[in-house]
Amino acid sequence: MISERGDGRPRDAANPLNELPAVGGRIMAKILVCVAWPYASAPRHLGHAISTFIPADVFARYHRMKGDEVLMVGGSDMHGTPTMVRAEEEKVPVQEVAERFHALHTKNIEQLGVKYDLYWNTAAEDHKTWVQELFLDLQQKANVYEATMVSPFCTTGNHFLPDRYVEGTCPNCGFERARGDQCDSCGHLWDPFELKDPRCRIHGTAPVPRETKHFFFRLSAFEEPLKAWIASDKEHWRHHVLTFTRSWLQEGLKDRAMTRDLDWGIEVPVPGYETKRIYVWFEAVMGYLTATKEWFKLHGKPDGWKDFWYDPKAKHYYFIGKDNIVFHSIMWPAILMAADPKLVLPYDIVATQFLNISGEKMSGGRRKGVWLPDLLERFDPDQIRYYAVATMPEAKDTDFEWEDFAQRNNSELLAVYGNFVHRALTFADKNFNHEVPEAGYLDATDKALIRAIEEQWKRVGQNLEYVHLKDGLREAIQLARLGNQYFDQKAPWELVKKDRAACGTALHVALRAARSLALILAPFLPFSSQRLWNALGYDSEVHVQTWDEALEDVPAGQKLRVGRPLFTKIELETPEAEAADARFDVRVAEILDVKDHPNADKLYILTVDYGAGTRDIVSGIKNDYTPDQLRGRKIAYLLNLQPAKLRGVESHGMLLAGEDEHVVGLVLPPEDAPIGTQVLGVAGASELPFAEFQKYKLRVGEEGRVYFLGHNEEVRLPLKAGDAFLKVDKGLKEGTWVH
Ligand SMILES: [Zn+2]
Ligand SMILES: [Zn+2]
Repeated sequence: MISERGDGRPRDAANPLNELPAVGGRIMAKILVCVAWPYASAPRHLGHAISTFIPADVFARYHRMKGDEVLMVGGSDMHGTPTMVRAEEEKVPVQEVAERFHALHTKNIEQLGVKYDLYWNTAAEDHKTWVQELFLDLQQKANVYEATMVSPFCTTGNHFLPDRYVEGTCPNCGFERARGDQCDSCGHLWDPFELKDPRCRIHGTAPVPRETKHFFFRLSAFEEPLKAWIASDKEHWRHHVLTFTRSWLQEGLKDRAMTRDLDWGIEVPVPGYETKRIYVWFEAVMGYLTATKEWFKLHGKPDGWKDFWYDPKAKHYYFIGKDNIVFHSIMWPAILMAADPKLVLPYDIVATQFLNISGEKMSGGRRKGVWLPDLLERFDPDQIRYYAVATMPEAKDTDFEWEDFAQRNNSELLAVYGNFVHRALTFADKNFNHEVPEAGYLDATDKALIRAIEEQWKRVGQNLEYVHLKDGLREAIQLARLGNQYFDQKAPWELVKKDRAACGTALHVALRAARSLALILAPFLPFSSQRLWNALGYDSEVHVQTWDEALEDVPAGQKLRVGRPLFTKIELETPEAEAADARFDVRVAEILDVKDHPNADKLYILTVDYGAGTRDIVSGIKNDYTPDQLRGRKIAYLLNLQPAKLRGVESHGMLLAGEDEHVVGLVLPPEDAPIGTQVLGVAGASELPFAEFQKYKLRVGEEGRVYFLGHNEEVRLPLKAGDAFLKVDKGLKEGTWVH
C-alpha cells in the first residue's frame, strides 16, 4: 500500500498556522491540479464555478508564483446524458450541443481569468484511444469482466434506459426526481430499480426489467485496499469528504457496470458491443490522466506525464462539488489501483459544499441570471472571483443572495482594498510629481505597517498551502484594512503642509503595501492585480513575479500611472426596480416654444419635440426660468403621464425638474444626447396615473447623478442617456418633482 506520500513536511495539519513556509532554498513541489469536468449541456452557473475552476485557479496561480511545477488540467464532459437529453429537447444532433457548450465553457473560463494548462474535452481522439486502451488492460487483468444484468427497458419507446433516463423517488431522502444512477439531492448512488416509482424520463411510463450484457468493473476487489488508503494520512482532508467516503466504504462496495446501452460516447473496443458505450463515470475521471498525457504530448515529451503520475512526491489536488465525492475518493482511486498500483492516488479532494441558488435567482428576470455568461456581461471578472472565494461554502451549504454579492464587493473589495490603493496612488501622483516618493526616517507606525505586510503575506501563504482559500483572502484584505488605518493615522493631506519629507515617507510605505497587495492578491484577483501593478509603474506581467517578491520595496522615483479606481460599485436592479422601470417612458425632448398660460400667472405652456412628435405641456416654472432660457433647451420629458387639464389647458406629460426651498432646477440630459433618447423606462409604457407617479421622489446622489426613488426608497431608478447620468440644473442636491 502507498503509505508515505508526503514531501517530508512536518505533519501539523491540525494547526497550519504554526508552520511557516520556508523562504529561499525551498524544495519545489510537483502539483497536479485536477478540475471536475463540467457537462457540455448548458451554461455553467456561479455555483459550479465556485466549487471547481475558480478555487483550482487560485490554488494553481499561487503555486506557480511559488515556483512549483504546476499542471492544471480538465475539460468538458461531452458524453454525459444531460447533453443527450438537451439534444433530444432541441431536436439537434448531440454532437452539436456538446461542441456548442464546450466552446461556451472554454470562453467563459478564459473570461474569468482561469488559466488551465489544458482545457480539453472527452470527445478528443486521444482521450478515446487511451480510455479504450485502459479498458482492455483492465479486462486483461481481470478487473473488468462481462456479465448479464437486468436493465430497465421502456416498452413504450422500445429502448433501454441508462442512468438519467430513469427518474424516481429517492428511498434515502425522498427527493422525487432522483436519477437512475444517483440522487442529486443527497448524493446517494442507486440502481434504477432501487428507486421508488421509477419511470422513463421521455415517456413517463414505468420500465420493465430486461436482461442485457455488460462489462463490469470489479470494484468489490478494492474495498480493503481503499479502506487502508483512507485510514492513512488523511488528516488534511476536509471533514465532510472523509466522513462521506468512510460511510460509503462501510456499506460495502459492489461491482459496477461500466458500459451502457447508448449510441453516444466512447465505443466499447470489443466485438458484439456496437450498440453500447463506455460509461461516463469511468471515462470522465480518467480524463485527469489522459489530459496530462495530452499536455506532454503537445509539448513534445510523450513520456513526461509519468513525472506527475509515478513520482510519489507529486501531489494531486482534485477540485470538485460535493455531489462528485464518491467518484474521486472511491471509484477513481480504485481504477488507478486496478491499472497500476504505482500510480499516484489523490493527495487531496477539495470538495466544496453547494452554493444554493433558488430557481428564481438562477434565471430570475431579464439579465438577472447567475449563469456565467450573464454575470460576465454585467460584472468585472474579479468581482465574480472575489465573491466566489469570499463566500466559498467550504464547511456547509450557503444560500446565494444578490444583496450579499453586491455588499461584499462594495463594502470589502471596493471600500477596503480599492479605496486604500486608490488613495495612496492618487495622493502621491498629485503631490509628488507623479512618482513614488523617497522614504526617509521610519517611525514606529511606518515600521508596524511594514511588519504587517510580512505577517499577512505569511498568513495568506499558510492558508493557501492548506487550500483554505476563504481564510487566505480574508487575511489579504486585512492588510488593505491595516493600510487604510495607516493612511488615516498619517493623514498625508495635513502632513504635506507641515512636513513634506514625512509625508513622502508615509506615501512610500503605503505604496509599498499596495505593491505587496498586488502580488498577494494576484492568485485571487488576476485582472485588478495587473491593473494595480501597472498603476504602480511596472511594465511587466504581475503573474510572472514570484510569491517572495511581495516582500520587496517599491523603488523611489518610479513613475506612477494612475488611472481609474480598481473597482466600480455594484448597483443592483431589484425585481421591484425592474417592475417600476417598466412603468415609465422618459425621453430626451427639446423645448420648441414657450407661451404664457392664459389663466394662470405662474404657468407656461411649452411645446416640446420628443423625437416622435410634438406635444404641449403645462409647467409651473415661470418664476424660475425665462422663456429665452427655455427655448431650444433639452429636457427630460415624461411622456406617458396621464393627461390632465390645468386651469382649462390640457397638459400632455411633464418635464422633470427638482426643487428645494430656494430654487427649481431642470433635470438635464447631456448636451449631445439625441432628441428621443430613452432616459428611463420603456418606449410605449402604458399611461401612468398622477397618483402613482407621486409615489416617486427625485434624489440627487454621488457626483450629481439623478434617480427616481420609490417604494420606501427600495427602488432606485437612474436617469441615464446611454452611459451618461442626467444631472440637475443649478447644483440642486435634493428635491421633489415640479409639475
Ligand atoms: Zn421510454
Ligand atoms: Zn436522495
